[in-house]
Amino acid sequence: MGHWSSGAGSLSSRRSILVRAVLSARGPDGSPAEVEGWGECPAMPEPTYSADYLDGEEQVLERFLVPALLRSGVVRTEDVRSALAGTKGHHPAKASLEGALLDAETRLSGTRTADWLASRSASGGRPRERVPAGVAIGLGGPLGRLVEEVGRRVEEGYRRVKLKIRPGWDREPLAAVRQQWPALVLFADANGAYAALGPEEAAKELAPLSELGLAALEQPLGDDDLVGHARFAELTDLPVCLDEALPSVAALGSALRLGACRVANIKASRMGGYLNALSALDVCTSRGVPAWCGGMVETGVGRAANLALASLPGFSLPGDLSASGRFFAPDIVVPPLVLGPDGDLALPAGAGSGVDLDARLLDRASTRRTWLGA
Ligand code: MG
Repeated sequence: MGHWSSGAGSLSSRRSILVRAVLSARGPDGSPAEVEGWGECPAMPEPTYSADYLDGEEQVLERFLVPALLRSGVVRTEDVRSALAGTKGHHPAKASLEGALLDAETRLSGTRTADWLASRSASGGRPRERVPAGVAIGLGGPLGRLVEEVGRRVEEGYRRVKLKIRPGWDREPLAAVRQQWPALVLFADANGAYAALGPEEAAKELAPLSELGLAALEQPLGDDDLVGHARFAELTDLPVCLDEALPSVAALGSALRLGACRVANIKASRMGGYLNALSALDVCTSRGVPAWCGGMVETGVGRAANLALASLPGFSLPGDLSASGRFFAPDIVVPPLVLGPDGDLALPAGAGSGVDLDARLLDRASTRRTWLGA
């Protein structure tokens, strides 16, 4: 993959955990049939975005989560959360198990994941067949190179760009991009990089961003600092958005009650699954809070599931949803997710997430496989 760098670390190759769930059923003629579904645990290799990291999530899956799920006998996506509730935290691992079962269950019933999610959303509505894409651009490199990269992405069709920022790298790059592309939907993501300044100083430091027409300023302060974000939001008219500080639907409720954010980043892997993400979206929709669907540099497996989630009409802002080619050449799924002429991605037509693993590429990319049977 291409090099990726944020306030939470950098990546030039991507390891990930793919979870395969197999459901046994009866075919239309009564004969036994098996259907498989895939989920992805996109924790970072090091505990820099959150306390979770890939090897830790792998161990938690093997030692605690998969055995708990098998013991529970759960075969419905809606029951996964309660079956895993005995283990605290480890949201990316929990989301990958729920995601694999969701994919298998929807394939078994011939339903698209997007339709399945929409039918369970309190806000109703049908999925959008074309979902606005967005691209995030990492830290580092000279300003000229950043502007060139944004230019390339705009040319590819992206209408929404997110820049990673940190103290000393904020107003200048954002202003340079804004000057060149006045109509671009522009986000800035600090990944908590202003935490040491505290809310008052951070608000002063980031005040010049107010004139740049940002659609979201993401996570300026620490993960655990809702009160600090509420103070920050009092001192600024910037559209404060939270990511790391929203690990759960309850945290989202607290943040909105405190006034800690005006925009929400909803990520299934951070919130422990797609159904939690759906509940979070319903909270945002009912309160008129703009929301967008975040991502974690997933392979096509997680990305297709995120696309299904992001297709729900409650998401009013374009999310971290880029084409397969943004990070991976080639991606491990077929068909790859390709950017359309209007800067959007088409929802695949097939059941489940609508994409399939390329077995040859999966073989080539696999470093370890484990099967934990019932
Ligand atoms: Mg973020």
